[in-house]
Amino acid sequence: DTILLIGSGGREHALAVALANSPLVGRVICAPGNGGTIKDVSLNGHKITNAGCKDTKNETVVELVKEYKADMVVVGPEQPLVDGLVDCLKVECGGVRVFGPSKDAAELEASKAFTKDFLQQHDIPTAKYRNFTSSEEAIAYVKSLDPTDRQVVKASGLAAGKGVLLPTTQEETIAAVKEIMSDKAFGAAGDTCVIESFMTGPEASCLAFCDGKTAVLMPAAQDHKRALDNDEGLNTGGMGAYAPAPCVTPELHKEIEEVCRKTVAKMAERGTPYVGVLYAGMMLTPNGPSVLEFNCRFGDPETQVLLPLLETDLYEVMIACCDGKLDTVDVRFKEKVSAATVVCAAKGYPETYPKGMPIRGLDVANLTDNVMVYHAGTTIQNQTTVCSGGRVLAVTGTGSNLTEALAASYKAVKSIKFEDTADPTISLMHYRTDIAKGAIRKKLR
Ligand code: ATP
Repeated sequence: DTILLIGSGGREHALAVALANSPLVGRVICAPGNGGTIKDVSLNGHKITNAGCKDTKNETVVELVKEYKADMVVVGPEQPLVDGLVDCLKVECGGVRVFGPSKDAAELEASKAFTKDFLQQHDIPTAKYRNFTSSEEAIAYVKSLDPTDRQVVKASGLAAGKGVLLPTTQEETIAAVKEIMSDKAFGAAGDTCVIESFMTGPEASCLAFCDGKTAVLMPAAQDHKRALDNDEGLNTGGMGAYAPAPCVTPELHKEIEEVCRKTVAKMAERGTPYVGVLYAGMMLTPNGPSVLEFNCRFGDPETQVLLPLLETDLYEVMIACCDGKLDTVDVRFKEKVSAATVVCAAKGYPETYPKGMPIRGLDVANLTDNVMVYHAGTTIQNQTTVCSGGRVLAVTGTGSNLTEALAASYKAVKSIKFEDTADPTISLMHYRTDIAKGAIRKKLR
C-alpha cells in the first residue's frame, strides 16, 4: 500500500520509519518531509520519499492523494486537522483511509474551553475552572477568589504551546488575563480564556490509539520542555523524552486508559467520533490523575520514543483505527524495553539560531547499536545534510532499561556535530545532558 504522511518533523520521520517497517506498506510519501525522509536508502529498501509539495493545504493534499494513489493519509501536526483536512479528504477522495480526527473531533485540542466543558460534563477529572469571553468578567472572577488560591490562565485556542500563563499572585493573574484577552498576546486564540486552579504533581504524556469507539493507551512518556539542563531556560517544542515513564504505575495506566476510553465514547455519543491518536497531558496529583489538556495527534518528541517500543505493525493498528475495529487487533508493546530520545538543536534555539550548518558524524551515529536518528529540521544541500530548523535531530536509544537506552542515545549524540562553516572546529549544536535523569534517580532510591 501507499501512505501519504503529512508533516515535516522528527515525529513524522519516526512515523515514516515505523510504517515502512510494515510488510503491507510499499511506499511512504512524506509531504513535505525533511532531509531524513527525502530518500531513506539506509532503511526499508527505498520505501520512504518526499513528495516535493509547496504546502499542505487541503487542496494540495487532495491532489497528492490522487497523484500517488494513496491508500491511507496519516496526519502528523494539529493545524491541518483543525483546518478540516480529514473531512475534506473524506469528501474529495472517497475510499482513502485517513488516520486523524475530523475538524469537530479535533476541537479537543483546538478549544481548551470546549474541552473543559466536555470534561466537566462527563465527570472526567480536571482542574476546577471557568471560561470567559469578557476580560471584565474574568477579572471580577479572579478578584472574587481567595488570593492564596493560585490560578492558571490559558488562551483557549491554538497558540503553538505558548498560550498558558502561570501567575503566582492575584495581581499577576489579573495581568495575565489582560495580556491574553485585551493585549491579544496570542491573537484570536485569546478571545476566550480559561482560568483554572493550579495543580501540582508529575506530568505524563499519555497517548492512545482511537477508532471512534474505544481507545488503547500506549506506555506513558515524559518530555522535557525547557531548553537547558535542570529545567532552566525557555520553553521549547521539547528537548527530549523517554518511555515508559516509571511514575505511571500499572494502576495509574489503567485509570488513564479509562479517561481516554470515556472521552472517545462520549465524543461518539455527541456525534463527533474520535479517530486517530488522542494525547492526554495528565498531571498525577495527590488526588489522582487529572487532565491538563488534550492534543489531537502524536506528540513530538514522544513519538520518537513510543514507536520504537511498539511491537504490533503500526499500519495494521492504523487501519483498525480507521475502520472502527481496534478491538480486533492485539496492540502490543515490547516488554522490558525502554526508549529515550535526545533532541539535538541549533545553538540559540528557541531564540534566534543559525541554519545551514553541515551535519557531521551522521553515518557513525546511525551505525551505533540500538540507535535511531530521526531527522526534524534538516534538508539536503549539494548531497550534504544540513540544518534547516531549531530542533534538528532526535536521537533515540533503546535498551532493557532507561540507563541503557540513554547510554545508547548519548553515545550517538556525541558523534554528531553541526559544523560552523566559518570555523570547522566549532559545533553549533546544543542538547540537554539530563534527559530522564529524574526518573533514573527516583528508581535508584
Ligand atoms: P503544550 O505545549 O503541551 O501543547 P499547551 O500550551 O497546550 O501546551 P497545557 O499543556 O494546557 O498547554 O499547559 C502547559 C503547561 O502548563 C503544562 O504542561 C503544565 O506544566 C502547566 N499547567 C497547565 N495547567 C496547569 C494547572 N492547572 N496547574 C499547574 N500547571 C499547569
